[in-house]
Amino acid sequence: VNMFMEPIKRLVSFNEQFQKGMAGFQRFIELLDMEAEIKDKKDALELTHVKGNIEYRNISFGYNHHSKVLAGIDIKINVGETVAFVGPSGAGKSTLCKLLPRFYEIDQGELLIDDINIKDVSLTSLRKNIGIVQQDVFLFNGTIKENIAYGRLDASDEEIIAAAKKANAHQFIMNLEQGYDTNIGERGVKLSGGQKQRISIARSFLKNPPILILDEATSSLDNESEKIIQESLKRLAEDRTTLVIAHRLSTVIDADKILVLTDDGIVEQGKHQELLNQDSGVYKSLYESQFELVS
Ligand code: ADP
Ligand code: MG
Repeated sequence: VNMFMEPIKRLVSFNEQFQKGMAGFQRFIELLDMEAEIKDKKDALELTHVKGNIEYRNISFGYNHHSKVLAGIDIKINVGETVAFVGPSGAGKSTLCKLLPRFYEIDQGELLIDDINIKDVSLTSLRKNIGIVQQDVFLFNGTIKENIAYGRLDASDEEIIAAAKKANAHQFIMNLEQGYDTNIGERGVKLSGGQKQRISIARSFLKNPPILILDEATSSLDNESEKIIQESLKRLAEDRTTLVIAHRLSTVIDADKILVLTDDGIVEQGKHQELLNQDSGVYKSLYESQFELVS
């Protein structure tokens, strides 16, 4: 039953947020926390001083009892590494990444950050350490400043502006009539896809987490936007452990490690050139079929 409730709860929380604007902001956060049936265990620890080693140990997961999306997944990611996930659509790349902030409960196996099982720490402290930049940018009805500060609610104006600058967002924000106080959302100014992305990147700079998840956009932005965003994402990924669901060839080639995920699990891993050298490799054939590496 809970499985069916979840999307409804999600819808309700979004609606509420949009209707009440900032007044509903706190309520919105509460609803987000309520959304899943995942809860802190009784004596949950606070996850602090995270370095950013990540280990998936024999992980299995399915959205329902009938079928497994992931089975027997083993992955080791070292501090500061950028790991690119490639593979066909539906293989479970997004799901794999969503297990890390515990958006879903793992059926079997252990997921460790710096050798600590994520089930043993509070959700709040876990998620404080993980930044997520994805295609569907979530913005709420409020000012630009408030939307960036969502990355860290106690941030000062100076910190918000510094984050926007790193995200290549400062300039377009200053070009708006009301700058950082411009209202966005239903009754506010409409932002382009690229501008929304940059707000979300600014949010992550402000949050400054040791671990980052990037779900790269499939739909191509205009050339200039794309270049600006790539540059700021590269900067964001520096000095963090980064999991990228990679759609861009450049991301894949630059990654410290590429993991090829298919319905059979992780079938290959290594650097770009190493994988290309495997004669009948999955990566090699993906690469050769017009660079169609990913979904
Ligand atoms: P990828 O990112 O590699 O394209 P996903 O992780 O999005 O793959 O999806 C893996 C499988 O899980 C797919 O079969 C997809 O339909 C299913 N799936 C994804 N999200 C959900 C969800 N929230 N509820 C039920 N099934 C889901
Ligand atoms: Mg996906």
